[in-house]
Amino acid sequence: MYKLPAKLEKFTPYEPLTGEYAVRLDVNESFLELPTEQVIRAVLDIDKVKLNRYPDPYACQVVNAFADLFGCDPRCVTAGNGSDELIGVITAGLLEKGDKVLTLSPDFTMYSFYAELYELQVHELPKGDDFIVNAGKVVAYIKENDIDCLMFSNPCNPTSLGLEMSGVLHILRSCPDTLIVVDEAYMDFWTNPQGHETESMLPETANHDNLIVLRTCSKSVALAGIRLGFAVANEHITRALRTVKSPFNVNAITQSIGAAILSDKVGYKQAITVLKENTHVLYTALNELAIFEELCDTKTNFVFAKTVHANEIYEHLFKKGIAVRCFPSHLRICAGSSDDMNILIKELKLWKKSKT
Ligand SMILES: *Cc1c(COP(=O)(O)O)cnc(C)c1O
Repeated sequence: MYKLPAKLEKFTPYEPLTGEYAVRLDVNESFLELPTEQVIRAVLDIDKVKLNRYPDPYACQVVNAFADLFGCDPRCVTAGNGSDELIGVITAGLLEKGDKVLTLSPDFTMYSFYAELYELQVHELPKGDDFIVNAGKVVAYIKENDIDCLMFSNPCNPTSLGLEMSGVLHILRSCPDTLIVVDEAYMDFWTNPQGHETESMLPETANHDNLIVLRTCSKSVALAGIRLGFAVANEHITRALRTVKSPFNVNAITQSIGAAILSDKVGYKQAITVLKENTHVLYTALNELAIFEELCDTKTNFVFAKTVHANEIYEHLFKKGIAVRCFPSHLRICAGSSDDMNILIKELKLWKKSKT
Protein backbone atom coordinates (compact mmCIF):
# COMPACT_ATOMS: atom_id res chain seq x y z
CA MET A 1 0.00 0.00 0.00
CA TYR A 2 1.27 3.44 -0.90
CA LYS A 3 2.05 5.50 2.18
CA LEU A 4 2.49 9.25 2.20
CA PRO A 5 5.95 10.29 3.38
CA ALA A 6 6.19 10.92 7.12
CA LYS A 7 7.45 14.47 6.55
CA LEU A 8 3.94 15.46 5.44
CA GLU A 9 2.60 14.91 8.94
CA LYS A 10 3.81 18.40 9.84
CA PHE A 11 1.82 20.03 7.03
CA THR A 12 -1.79 21.09 6.67
CA PRO A 13 -3.35 22.43 3.46
CA TYR A 14 -3.45 26.19 3.05
CA GLU A 15 -6.80 27.36 4.35
CA PRO A 16 -8.16 30.23 2.32
CA LEU A 17 -10.83 32.49 3.77
CA THR A 18 -14.16 31.27 2.53
CA GLY A 19 -17.39 33.20 2.36
CA GLU A 20 -18.16 36.73 1.32
CA TYR A 21 -16.21 39.63 2.75
CA ALA A 22 -17.22 43.14 1.90
CA VAL A 23 -13.80 44.39 2.91
CA ARG A 24 -10.59 42.41 2.36
CA LEU A 25 -7.62 43.84 4.21
CA ASP A 26 -5.99 40.55 5.15
CA VAL A 27 -3.50 39.59 2.44
CA ASN A 28 -1.73 42.87 1.61
CA GLU A 29 -2.89 43.03 -2.01
CA SER A 30 -3.23 46.34 -3.79
CA PHE A 31 -6.81 47.62 -3.73
CA LEU A 32 -6.20 49.44 -7.00
CA GLU A 33 -7.56 47.81 -10.11
CA LEU A 34 -5.46 48.19 -13.23
CA PRO A 35 -6.96 49.88 -16.29
CA THR A 36 -9.00 47.13 -17.92
CA GLU A 37 -8.21 48.33 -21.42
CA GLN A 38 -4.47 48.18 -20.88
CA VAL A 39 -4.76 44.61 -19.61
CA ILE A 40 -7.10 43.45 -22.34
CA ARG A 41 -4.89 44.94 -25.02
CA ALA A 42 -1.94 42.97 -23.63
CA VAL A 43 -3.92 39.72 -23.58
CA LEU A 44 -5.27 40.22 -27.08
CA ASP A 45 -1.86 41.03 -28.54
CA ILE A 46 -2.13 37.98 -30.78
CA ASP A 47 1.38 38.32 -32.17
CA LYS A 48 2.80 37.79 -28.73
CA VAL A 49 0.27 35.56 -27.04
CA LYS A 50 0.03 32.34 -29.03
CA LEU A 51 -1.87 30.02 -26.76
CA ASN A 52 -1.11 26.88 -28.79
CA ARG A 53 2.62 27.44 -28.22
CA TYR A 54 4.64 27.02 -25.04
CA PRO A 55 5.59 30.33 -23.48
CA ASP A 56 9.10 31.80 -23.61
CA PRO A 57 11.02 29.82 -20.93
CA TYR A 58 13.04 32.89 -19.97
CA ALA A 59 10.09 35.29 -20.18
CA CYS A 60 12.38 37.78 -21.95
CA GLN A 61 9.78 40.43 -22.67
CA VAL A 62 8.60 40.75 -19.09
CA VAL A 63 12.11 40.31 -17.68
CA ASN A 64 13.29 43.18 -19.90
CA ALA A 65 10.43 45.39 -18.74
CA PHE A 66 11.25 44.59 -15.11
CA ALA A 67 14.98 45.20 -15.63
CA ASP A 68 14.28 48.49 -17.35
CA LEU A 69 11.96 49.68 -14.58
CA PHE A 70 14.40 48.81 -11.80
CA GLY A 71 17.63 49.59 -13.60
CA CYS A 72 19.12 46.12 -13.46
CA ASP A 73 20.70 43.82 -16.01
CA PRO A 74 18.10 41.50 -17.61
CA ARG A 75 20.73 38.73 -17.65
CA CYS A 76 20.50 38.76 -13.84
CA VAL A 77 16.71 38.36 -13.62
CA THR A 78 14.66 35.15 -13.43
CA ALA A 79 10.87 35.29 -13.65
CA GLY A 80 8.71 33.00 -11.55
CA ASN A 81 5.10 31.98 -11.10
CA GLY A 82 4.88 34.36 -8.15
CA SER A 83 7.86 34.84 -5.87
CA ASP A 84 6.38 31.91 -4.00
CA GLU A 85 7.53 29.57 -6.75
CA LEU A 86 10.99 31.13 -6.67
CA ILE A 87 11.30 30.48 -2.93
CA GLY A 88 10.54 26.84 -3.76
CA VAL A 89 13.04 26.80 -6.62
CA ILE A 90 15.78 28.22 -4.39
CA THR A 91 15.17 25.81 -1.53
CA ALA A 92 14.79 22.78 -3.81
CA GLY A 93 17.49 23.58 -6.32
CA LEU A 94 20.18 25.68 -4.68
CA LEU A 95 20.35 23.83 -1.37
CA GLU A 96 20.82 20.21 -0.41
CA LYS A 97 18.89 17.92 1.90
CA GLY A 98 19.92 18.63 5.48
CA ASP A 99 21.28 22.12 4.74
CA LYS A 100 20.57 24.67 7.44
CA VAL A 101 18.17 27.50 6.63
CA LEU A 102 17.81 30.38 9.04
CA THR A 103 14.61 32.40 9.31
CA LEU A 104 14.02 35.39 11.57
CA SER A 105 10.71 35.06 13.36
CA PRO A 106 8.14 36.35 12.96
CA ASP A 107 8.45 36.38 9.17
CA PHE A 108 6.71 35.16 6.01
CA THR A 109 5.94 31.47 6.60
CA MET A 110 6.67 30.25 3.06
CA TYR A 111 10.42 30.11 3.79
CA SER A 112 10.08 27.43 6.44
CA PHE A 113 7.26 25.74 4.51
CA TYR A 114 9.45 25.07 1.47
CA ALA A 115 12.56 24.42 3.54
CA GLU A 116 10.75 21.69 5.46
CA LEU A 117 9.13 20.25 2.35
CA TYR A 118 12.57 19.85 0.78
CA GLU A 119 13.99 18.36 3.98
CA LEU A 120 16.25 21.21 4.93
CA GLN A 121 16.94 21.94 8.58
CA VAL A 122 15.07 25.06 9.67
CA HIS A 123 16.56 27.32 12.34
CA GLU A 124 14.50 30.17 13.73
CA LEU A 125 16.09 33.19 15.34
CA PRO A 126 13.40 35.19 17.15
CA LYS A 127 13.47 38.94 16.77
CA GLY A 128 13.35 40.94 19.98
CA ASP A 129 10.20 42.45 21.45
CA ASP A 130 10.65 45.51 19.23
CA PHE A 131 10.87 43.22 16.13
CA ILE A 132 13.98 45.04 14.99
CA VAL A 133 16.51 42.80 13.22
CA ASN A 134 19.92 42.97 14.85
CA ALA A 135 22.40 42.30 12.02
CA GLY A 136 25.24 41.57 14.46
CA LYS A 137 23.20 38.88 16.20
CA VAL A 138 22.20 37.34 12.87
CA VAL A 139 25.85 37.14 11.79
CA ALA A 140 26.85 35.58 15.12
CA TYR A 141 24.07 32.99 14.82
CA ILE A 142 25.03 32.14 11.23
CA LYS A 143 28.66 31.61 12.20
CA GLU A 144 27.97 29.66 15.38
CA ASN A 145 25.54 27.32 13.64
CA ASP A 146 27.15 27.05 10.23
CA ILE A 147 24.00 28.26 8.45
CA ASP A 148 23.85 27.58 4.69
CA CYS A 149 21.07 30.00 3.80
CA LEU A 150 19.36 32.99 5.41
CA MET A 151 15.93 34.00 4.09
CA PHE A 152 14.04 37.03 5.31
CA SER A 153 11.60 39.63 4.07
CA ASN A 154 12.70 43.25 4.00
CA PRO A 155 10.61 45.20 4.77
CA CYS A 156 9.13 42.41 6.82
CA ASN A 157 5.74 40.76 6.57
CA PRO A 158 4.19 40.78 9.19
CA THR A 159 6.07 43.37 11.28
CA SER A 160 6.13 46.07 8.53
CA LEU A 161 9.62 47.09 9.70
CA GLY A 162 12.73 47.27 7.54
CA LEU A 163 16.42 46.50 8.01
CA GLU A 164 18.58 49.24 6.53
CA MET A 165 20.92 48.46 3.67
CA SER A 166 23.97 48.86 5.91
CA GLY A 167 22.66 46.01 8.07
CA VAL A 168 21.99 43.72 5.11
CA LEU A 169 25.44 44.51 3.67
CA HIS A 170 27.02 43.69 7.01
CA ILE A 171 25.39 40.26 6.98
CA LEU A 172 26.32 39.65 3.33
CA ARG A 173 29.96 40.58 3.75
CA SER A 174 30.40 38.80 7.06
CA CYS A 175 28.91 35.54 5.78
CA PRO A 176 30.37 34.95 2.30
CA ASP A 177 29.67 31.20 2.46
CA THR A 178 25.97 31.65 3.25
CA LEU A 179 23.32 32.23 0.59
CA ILE A 180 21.40 35.35 1.59
CA VAL A 181 17.88 35.64 0.15
CA VAL A 182 16.30 39.06 0.69
CA ASP A 183 12.60 39.07 -0.13
CA GLU A 184 11.76 42.64 -1.08
CA ALA A 185 8.03 42.09 -1.70
CA TYR A 186 7.29 45.44 -0.02
CA MET A 187 10.42 47.41 -0.88
CA ASP A 188 8.50 49.64 -3.28
CA PHE A 189 6.76 51.19 -0.29
CA TRP A 190 9.96 51.99 1.59
CA THR A 191 10.88 55.20 -0.13
CA ASN A 192 12.33 58.46 1.08
CA PRO A 193 10.40 61.72 0.71
CA GLN A 194 11.96 62.22 -2.75
CA GLY A 195 10.32 58.99 -3.79
CA HIS A 196 13.50 56.98 -4.25
CA GLU A 197 14.14 53.59 -2.78
CA THR A 198 17.09 53.84 -0.51
CA GLU A 199 17.39 50.46 1.09
CA SER A 200 16.90 48.01 -1.77
CA MET A 201 19.64 45.47 -2.41
CA LEU A 202 18.83 45.32 -6.15
CA PRO A 203 21.81 47.48 -7.15
CA GLU A 204 24.06 45.20 -5.08
CA THR A 205 23.13 41.91 -6.74
CA ALA A 206 25.92 42.10 -9.33
CA ASN A 207 28.56 42.63 -6.61
CA HIS A 208 27.92 39.50 -4.54
CA ASP A 209 27.97 35.82 -5.29
CA ASN A 210 25.82 34.89 -2.29
CA LEU A 211 22.83 37.24 -2.77
CA ILE A 212 19.37 36.74 -4.26
CA VAL A 213 16.78 39.51 -4.14
CA LEU A 214 13.14 38.57 -4.63
CA ARG A 215 10.50 40.92 -5.99
CA THR A 216 6.82 40.39 -6.72
CA CYS A 217 4.05 41.96 -8.78
CA SER A 218 1.48 40.88 -6.16
CA LYS A 219 1.63 43.95 -3.94
CA SER A 220 2.66 47.35 -5.36
CA VAL A 221 1.98 46.35 -8.99
CA ALA A 222 -1.58 45.13 -8.28
CA LEU A 223 -1.16 41.84 -10.16
CA ALA A 224 -1.55 39.20 -7.45
CA GLY A 225 -3.96 37.32 -9.71
CA ILE A 226 -1.54 36.67 -12.57
CA ARG A 227 1.24 35.22 -10.34
CA LEU A 228 4.47 36.95 -11.27
CA GLY A 229 7.65 37.36 -9.28
CA PHE A 230 11.35 37.85 -9.96
CA ALA A 231 14.65 36.67 -8.54
CA VAL A 232 17.61 38.98 -9.13
CA ALA A 233 21.15 37.69 -8.60
CA ASN A 234 24.52 37.69 -10.36
CA GLU A 235 24.83 35.78 -13.63
CA HIS A 236 26.31 32.71 -11.99
CA ILE A 237 23.37 32.26 -9.58
CA THR A 238 20.87 33.28 -12.26
CA ARG A 239 22.16 30.52 -14.51
CA ALA A 240 21.66 28.04 -11.68
CA LEU A 241 18.09 29.29 -11.06
CA ARG A 242 17.23 28.99 -14.73
CA THR A 243 18.70 25.49 -14.74
CA VAL A 244 16.59 24.18 -11.88
CA LYS A 245 13.29 25.94 -12.47
CA SER A 246 10.54 24.31 -14.45
CA PRO A 247 11.11 25.40 -18.10
CA PHE A 248 7.70 26.93 -18.81
CA ASN A 249 6.97 28.24 -15.34
CA VAL A 250 5.45 31.60 -16.32
CA ASN A 251 2.45 31.32 -18.62
CA ALA A 252 2.06 33.35 -21.81
CA ILE A 253 -0.82 35.51 -20.58
CA THR A 254 1.05 36.44 -17.42
CA GLN A 255 4.15 37.31 -19.43
CA SER A 256 2.16 39.53 -21.75
CA ILE A 257 0.17 41.37 -19.07
CA GLY A 258 3.25 41.69 -16.86
CA ALA A 259 5.31 43.22 -19.67
CA ALA A 260 2.56 45.73 -20.50
CA ILE A 261 2.02 46.83 -16.92
CA LEU A 262 5.71 47.00 -15.94
CA SER A 263 6.44 49.10 -19.03
CA ASP A 264 4.10 51.78 -17.71
CA LYS A 265 6.54 53.58 -15.43
CA VAL A 266 4.21 56.48 -14.76
CA GLY A 267 1.34 54.21 -13.77
CA TYR A 268 3.66 52.22 -11.51
CA LYS A 269 4.83 55.32 -9.63
CA GLN A 270 1.32 56.76 -9.35
CA ALA A 271 -0.02 53.54 -7.88
CA ILE A 272 2.70 53.45 -5.24
CA THR A 273 1.98 57.06 -4.28
CA VAL A 274 -1.70 56.26 -3.76
CA LEU A 275 -0.96 53.07 -1.81
CA LYS A 276 1.48 54.92 0.43
CA GLU A 277 -0.99 57.74 1.02
CA ASN A 278 -3.71 55.30 2.01
CA THR A 279 -1.33 53.46 4.31
CA HIS A 280 -0.58 56.76 6.00
CA VAL A 281 -4.30 57.49 6.34
CA LEU A 282 -4.84 54.04 7.86
CA TYR A 283 -1.94 54.45 10.27
CA THR A 284 -3.17 57.86 11.43
CA ALA A 285 -6.75 56.66 11.89
CA LEU A 286 -5.65 53.59 13.88
CA ASN A 287 -3.43 55.78 16.00
CA GLU A 288 -6.26 58.20 16.78
CA LEU A 289 -8.56 55.37 17.82
CA ALA A 290 -6.24 54.70 20.74
CA ILE A 291 -7.21 51.04 21.08
CA PHE A 292 -3.78 49.66 20.15
CA GLU A 293 -0.86 49.54 22.52
CA GLU A 294 1.57 50.17 19.73
CA LEU A 295 1.72 50.56 15.94
CA CYS A 296 4.90 49.54 14.16
CA ASP A 297 6.44 52.29 12.06
CA THR A 298 5.36 50.86 8.71
CA LYS A 299 7.60 50.65 5.64
CA THR A 300 4.92 48.62 3.82
CA ASN A 301 1.28 48.86 2.68
CA PHE A 302 -0.05 47.48 5.96
CA VAL A 303 -0.02 48.30 9.65
CA PHE A 304 1.05 45.87 12.38
CA ALA A 305 -0.88 46.87 15.47
CA LYS A 306 -0.28 45.50 18.94
CA THR A 307 -3.23 44.68 21.19
CA VAL A 308 -4.07 42.12 23.86
CA HIS A 309 -7.55 42.05 22.29
CA ALA A 310 -6.31 40.91 18.86
CA ASN A 311 -8.55 37.86 18.74
CA GLU A 312 -11.63 39.65 20.00
CA ILE A 313 -11.28 42.56 17.57
CA TYR A 314 -10.57 40.13 14.75
CA GLU A 315 -13.79 38.23 15.50
CA HIS A 316 -15.79 41.44 15.74
CA LEU A 317 -14.58 42.61 12.32
CA PHE A 318 -14.98 39.16 10.83
CA LYS A 319 -18.67 39.08 11.75
CA LYS A 320 -19.11 42.40 9.96
CA GLY A 321 -17.55 41.08 6.77
CA ILE A 322 -14.19 42.74 7.29
CA ALA A 323 -11.16 40.49 6.92
CA VAL A 324 -7.86 41.39 8.57
CA ARG A 325 -5.04 39.09 9.69
CA CYS A 326 -4.82 38.00 13.32
CA PHE A 327 -1.59 37.19 15.18
CA PRO A 328 -1.37 36.24 18.87
CA SER A 329 -0.96 39.82 20.09
CA HIS A 330 -1.24 41.83 16.88
CA LEU A 331 -3.53 42.59 13.99
CA ARG A 332 -2.10 43.09 10.52
CA ILE A 333 -4.31 45.43 8.52
CA CYS A 334 -3.64 46.29 4.91
CA ALA A 335 -4.40 49.69 3.37
CA GLY A 336 -7.58 49.65 1.31
CA SER A 337 -9.72 52.14 -0.56
CA SER A 338 -11.06 55.13 1.40
CA ASP A 339 -14.49 53.47 1.52
CA ASP A 340 -13.06 50.22 2.88
CA MET A 341 -11.04 52.02 5.49
CA ASN A 342 -14.01 54.11 6.60
CA ILE A 343 -16.01 50.92 7.14
CA LEU A 344 -13.11 49.43 9.10
CA ILE A 345 -12.63 52.47 11.33
CA LYS A 346 -16.37 52.75 11.96
CA GLU A 347 -16.45 49.15 13.18
CA LEU A 348 -13.37 49.60 15.32
CA LYS A 349 -15.04 52.61 16.97
CA LEU A 350 -18.13 50.51 17.67
CA TRP A 351 -15.96 47.82 19.22
CA LYS A 352 -14.25 50.42 21.38
CA LYS A 353 -17.60 51.80 22.51
CA SER A 354 -18.81 48.34 23.46
CA LYS A 355 -15.87 48.12 25.86
CA THR A 356 -16.63 51.29 27.82
C1 LIG B 1 2.92 38.68 -0.42
C2 LIG B 1 4.33 38.25 -0.25
C3 LIG B 1 5.01 37.65 -1.30
C4 LIG B 1 4.33 37.48 -2.63
O1 LIG B 1 4.36 36.24 -3.09
P1 LIG B 1 3.83 35.98 -4.58
O2 LIG B 1 3.99 34.53 -4.68
O3 LIG B 1 4.75 36.72 -5.49
O4 LIG B 1 2.44 36.47 -4.66
C5 LIG B 1 6.33 37.28 -1.12
N1 LIG B 1 6.96 37.52 0.04
C6 LIG B 1 6.35 38.13 1.06
C7 LIG B 1 7.10 38.42 2.30
C8 LIG B 1 5.01 38.49 0.94
O5 LIG B 1 4.38 39.07 1.98
